[in-house]
Order: sequence, then C-alpha cells, then structure tokens
Amino acid sequence: TIGMVVVDKNRKVVSGTSTNGMNHKVPGRVGDSPIAGAGSYADSDVGGAAATGDGDVMMRLLPSYQAVEFMRNGDSPSLAAAKSIQRIIHHYPNFSGALIAVSKDGQVGAACNGIPAFPYSVINPKLQKVTVVSVKCI
Ligand code: ASP
Repeated sequence: TIGMVVVDKNRKVVSGTSTNGMNHKVPGRVGDSPIAGAGSYADSDVGGAAATGDGDVMMRLLPSYQAVEFMRNGDSPSLAAAKSIQRIIHHYPNFSGALIAVSKDGQVGAACNGIPAFPYSVINPKLQKVTVVSVKCI
C-alpha cells in the first residue's frame, strides 16, 4: 500500500491510499483502502492519517479515523499514531502494519507494529526535498 497525506498552502488536508491487494486475496475482496477511516482519513480542521497492514483488521478498527480523532483531542501526530496502533494490538497482538499522521500545521508522526521499523517520506517547504524518516515499531 502507498498511503499519503497532503496539507496544501491553504491548510486543506487530503489523504489517500493505494492497495497492493493482499497475497492470496479472495477475488472481489474490497480491502480497507476505499473505506474512509480505515485506509486513510482527513479532516481539514485537524489533519490526516493513512495506514498500511492487514486491511481486514483495519476495517474493524478504523485506525486512520481514530488517529485524526486523537489529534482533534490534542494529541501530537506521533502520539495519535501510536495510540491508534496500540488500539489494534490490544485486539490483534500479531498485527503487522503502520500508520502515518499529519496535523494541519504540518507536524508528522508515525507508528508501527510487527516489523522492526517503518520508513516514510516527508517533504515540506522547510525540508525542500523529500526526506526519509524512520520510526521504530512498538
Ligand atoms: N491494507 C492493504 C489491504 O489489506 C494491504 C497493505 O497495506 O499492504 O488490502
């Protein structure tokens, strides 16, 4: 999956995900990617989030929506991402996946589980060029 969150110069926030499709997926399966809140979610009042991992699990817990709601309630993107992943692990300890979260003011955070680390790319006017950041998983 490729997940993306974009904040434009007017602080409008959008998000999206592609999907690689799962290995051995059932023909016709609709994964998490097109499900608002599971694959990704954005609210220009707050920020956005996008997730990758087992979509059948994520459709049950809407981690991207949850991360945006955590940010709405005052959490940083990093904390919001970690709390969303923790919420999945609480129900599915073997969950393998990651989530990125971006606030409308451009702060970025990520969290992951089931792999050693999760690299993601960031670009903004300060960085000038695409920069790869890596977060250690829970
Ligand atoms: N979330 C995708 C799916 O379940 C898979 C992925 O993230 O790689 O379709």
